[in-house]
Amino acid sequence: MTAGPATLDAPSSRRRAGAGLRGMETADVDRDERLALMRTGELGSVHSWELVTAVDGPGTRLTVFLSGCPLRCLYCHNPDTLAMKDGEPVLAEDLLARVARYRGIFAATGGGITLSGGEVLMQPAFAARVLRGAKELGVHTTLDTSGFLGANATDAMLDDTDLVLLDIKAGDEETYRRVTGRSLAPTLRFGRHLAERGVRVWVRFVLVPGLTDDPRQVGLVADHAAAIEAVRPGTVERVEVLPFHQMARDKWAELGRTYELADTPPPTAAATEAVREVFRSRGLTTY
Ligand code: SF4
Repeated sequence: MTAGPATLDAPSSRRRAGAGLRGMETADVDRDERLALMRTGELGSVHSWELVTAVDGPGTRLTVFLSGCPLRCLYCHNPDTLAMKDGEPVLAEDLLARVARYRGIFAATGGGITLSGGEVLMQPAFAARVLRGAKELGVHTTLDTSGFLGANATDAMLDDTDLVLLDIKAGDEETYRRVTGRSLAPTLRFGRHLAERGVRVWVRFVLVPGLTDDPRQVGLVADHAAAIEAVRPGTVERVEVLPFHQMARDKWAELGRTYELADTPPPTAAATEAVREVFRSRGLTTY
């Protein structure tokens, strides 16, 4: 779930190039069986996966894009992941078999698995099973989430989560609703909960000219990140300010959807750096 070279909680179309379910087993089950297996978390609805380096967490990572998302971000870079029904059925055990095959790469690079989307917390049972299995393999685990469904993350799931990439998409309710169609409060609650439980967080903020770049707005997002850090110092390891880009425009067009940001330019390097400076002024480390 990400936009600059590596941004938001929607992976960029650049990063998705070549992604797919190639090499991932898919489950051949009927509808009733599929629903039963999804309830237990044995089966997930997966859009695609790819191996990435230096994005979606530390080291080389297997990033798995789950299907389904309750948000409708104006800048979504994965509009094709929003419906869970459009994903492919993948067994947790098959995904974990792939994770096991990459253990050497993960160990050599300090990488691991990142569950992204769409929204990973729309499939909490599947996510919990994969996270547990990854930890049993000794693999570093990351969740890439908007936090809107943070209440779906059980304590057991968070015990198996080494890092959360938490998107704070706007600083106040009005702007957050304009950007995503939903409420900001659950994300902030989830951020505080992560800090209380000692889960490390990388906050991500997508800088969109005319949408999220108002100085008051940026200041509020920085305040929210600082408030999470204040719950337990050391929680917010970094803030990633992600410059909006237009890589998803064609994807929106292919889906026949109106892309409101079609004429929005990316922020300048100076504007992006100025926003990073706002976060630094709160004592946070930014990239
Ligand atoms: S709509 Fe969902 S998948 Fe798209 S950017 Fe927003 S949270 Fe991410």
